[in-house]
Amino acid sequence: MAEIKLINVTKRFDEVEAVKNLNLHIKDGEFMTLLGPSGCGKTTTLRMIAGLEVPTEGKIYIGENLVADAESYRFVPPKDRDIAMVFQDYALYPHMTVYQNLAFPLELKKLPKNEIDKRVKEVAEMLGISHLLNRKPRELSGGQRQRVALGRAIVRRPKAFLMDEPLSNLDAKLRVRMRAELKKLQKQLGITTVYVTHDQVEAMTMGDRIAVLRNGVLQQVGTPEEVYREPANMFVAGFIGSPPMNFIEASLLEDAEGNLWLDAGDLRITLPADISEALRELGYAGKEVIFGIRPEDIYDISLTKGDYPGVKAKVDVVEPLGSELIVHLNVGNIKFVAKFHKDSKVKEGEEIEVGFDLKQAHFFDKHTKKVIL
Ligand code: ATP
Repeated sequence: MAEIKLINVTKRFDEVEAVKNLNLHIKDGEFMTLLGPSGCGKTTTLRMIAGLEVPTEGKIYIGENLVADAESYRFVPPKDRDIAMVFQDYALYPHMTVYQNLAFPLELKKLPKNEIDKRVKEVAEMLGISHLLNRKPRELSGGQRQRVALGRAIVRRPKAFLMDEPLSNLDAKLRVRMRAELKKLQKQLGITTVYVTHDQVEAMTMGDRIAVLRNGVLQQVGTPEEVYREPANMFVAGFIGSPPMNFIEASLLEDAEGNLWLDAGDLRITLPADISEALRELGYAGKEVIFGIRPEDIYDISLTKGDYPGVKAKVDVVEPLGSELIVHLNVGNIKFVAKFHKDSKVKEGEEIEVGFDLKQAHFFDKHTKKVIL
């Protein structure tokens, strides 16, 4: 078993608390992405799992092995943790050939020559780099170098892969291809993987689960679908998805029949009975909230007949992306970004009717920023 467990892990660098009381359980064979903006503590977390940083508080397990425990001062050095790291800068040995780069970690382990040869050739085959074995790193393209770096991690058959933005030095096209290849390879090998990225698309497409961090604090852990559809708070809701979710400050007012409606000044929407009831039960009748709706949950009524009455909106800017349109809308003084199907004929400056798919909308507490519904 090579599950990885972080229990109440904190890391302080003098004044900076880089990671705060982190609890994370990465399952055996799982691909876990650590996602968050620069400085949120992703790399520090990875380095603590690797044994390149010592936790200030808490425990870390790799499989059954307690590799770090602040309380008992237990600390297993990186070389004894049976993990392999892949970084963005590849860190290949420039004077060695691809074959020697791949063989080196096995020579350190003092494996017999024929076993080394077998494993190197197997991994080279798997990664499609068999024809490059006699070349030096400088004679390779970026993508080929990244494959060699991956090969060097795989060849050791470690308990876990730890990867820190390994694709960020590749051009956009190659990155998309390597993303898919890496994901496939990880599934094939079934090796527990922790993958650091600040790119939400990478996190969404590769991870079995995503751990979203902010200022050293874990915000949410879930499948890509969960963090996208059921964000725990406004930070996660706004960080994942492009263009990001629209947030509008509003009050939940009550009509004569006791139904709630959303009042955001120039935008007023009567809420369906089930949503209205749920918000009332949670104590939000008459309160201020943040209404959140994703661009794709706003639709062009002339194309799609939804369940809800339309709202008049002025089209400010249209950005055609080929398969869809990003449409900037004004409802009075309130600005929305919507994503319409490419068949939409909306034009800049015209007034249209839009619908909001309220079943997909979210309501957030104005003060805690946590999701209400
Ligand atoms: P990035 O995506 O920019 O690499 P990150 O999410 O990986 O960011 P970390 O590198 O883990 O963030 O850094 C978290 C915080 O800890 C930052 O405020 C950083 O400045 C601080 N930090 C990291 N390493 C050290 C160190 N060795 N000494 C002091 N502060 C550090």
